[in-house]
Amino acid sequence: DQLISQIAAGEVVERPASALKELLENSLDAGSTDIQVSLLQGGIKQMRVTDNGAGVAKEDLMLALTRHATSKIASLEDLESVASLGFRGEALASIASISRTQLLSRQVGSKHAWRIGSEGSDISAVEPAALDAGTVIEVSDLYFNTPARRKFLKTEATEFGHCEEMFTRIALSRPDVSLMLQHNGRALSRFAVGQPERRFSEVLGSEFVAESIAVDESAAGLRLWGMAAKPTFNRNSRDTQYVYVNGRFVRDKVIAHAIRQAYQDVLHHDRHPAFVLFLELDPSLVDVNVHPAKTEVRFRDSQAIHRFIFHSLHKALAIPTG
Ligand code: ADP
Ligand code: MG
Repeated sequence: DQLISQIAAGEVVERPASALKELLENSLDAGSTDIQVSLLQGGIKQMRVTDNGAGVAKEDLMLALTRHATSKIASLEDLESVASLGFRGEALASIASISRTQLLSRQVGSKHAWRIGSEGSDISAVEPAALDAGTVIEVSDLYFNTPARRKFLKTEATEFGHCEEMFTRIALSRPDVSLMLQHNGRALSRFAVGQPERRFSEVLGSEFVAESIAVDESAAGLRLWGMAAKPTFNRNSRDTQYVYVNGRFVRDKVIAHAIRQAYQDVLHHDRHPAFVLFLELDPSLVDVNVHPAKTEVRFRDSQAIHRFIFHSLHKALAIPTG
C-alpha cells in the first residue's frame, strides 16, 4: 500500500540530513572525486548534490528511484520492522517517495545525459538532457506528502546544522575528494583534495592540528590513526569527537570509553577531549549492519578493541611532542 510505504520511508529518512547522507554516499560509491552540495532552507526546501562520478545508465534511472521493498509492506507490523532496521539498498527510492526528486545523469561513455523525475510515487518518463558528466540529484520539498512526518522537522537552522554535521563527517574521512557546501546561495565550505592533516585543518581549524598529537599505531591486524588534541585545545572539543571504523563514522561506547580512559591515565584530562580517529580492521571482525542508517557497530571481540584503542592512544599521548 502506497500510503504505508510513504510512512515507512518517512520513518527511515528521519530528517534532511539522513537523506543527504545517502546522497553523498551514493556519489562516493560512484567514484566521485568532486562533490558539490547546495541546500535551500536547511535542506527542507531543496538538497542538490552534484558529482563527477560514474553516472547512472539510462536503463537504470527508473530502477534507482523505484526499487521498493516498501511495496511488500502490507501491515503496521511490517512497517515497524522496516522502521527499526532501515531500508537496505533502497535509500533513493525511499527519499523519492516522499519528495519531488530530479535525477540527471550521464554515464561514462554515454553520448548525452538522461533525466528522470518523481513527485512522490508518480515517476516521469526518462528524457534526454544536457550534462557534461556525473550526476546531479535534486531532492525538493521533503515530506511534502507525509504531513505527520513534516511536523517533526525542527527549524531551518537546526536542520541545516544536522546537514552540515553530516557533510563534515564525510569531509574529514575523504580528503581524497574535493567537497563544497552551499546554503541559501552562500558558499560556506570548500575543501580541496589533499593529505588528511590538511583536511583536518580546513575542516576543524589549524588550531586543532597545531594542538594535536598524530596517532598511528598497529597491532595484530588492527590500526588506529588520526589526531588527538592535547588538553590545551578546548574550543568546542565536546563536538570535535570523530571516530571512524573502516572509513565509516560511528558512535561506539567501547571506543569512547577506551579513549576517555587513555586521556585520563596519561594526561589526567577528564573533560571532553577532541579527536579524529580512524580504526581499521578486518571487516569480518565488525558488524556494521546493526542499523544501516545509524552509526552503531558491533565488534566480534569488543574487549580486544578496547585494549587496542586504549594502549595505542596511551602510547601516542605519552610521547612528549613539545
Ligand atoms: P544503493 O546505494 O544501496 O545501491 P540507493 O537507493 O542509495 O541504493 O541508490 C540506488 C542506485 O542508484 C545505486 O545503486 C546507483 O546505481 C544509483 N545511483 C544513485 N546515486 C548515484 C550517483 N550519484 N552516481 C551514480 N549512481 C547513482
Ligand atoms: Mg546508496
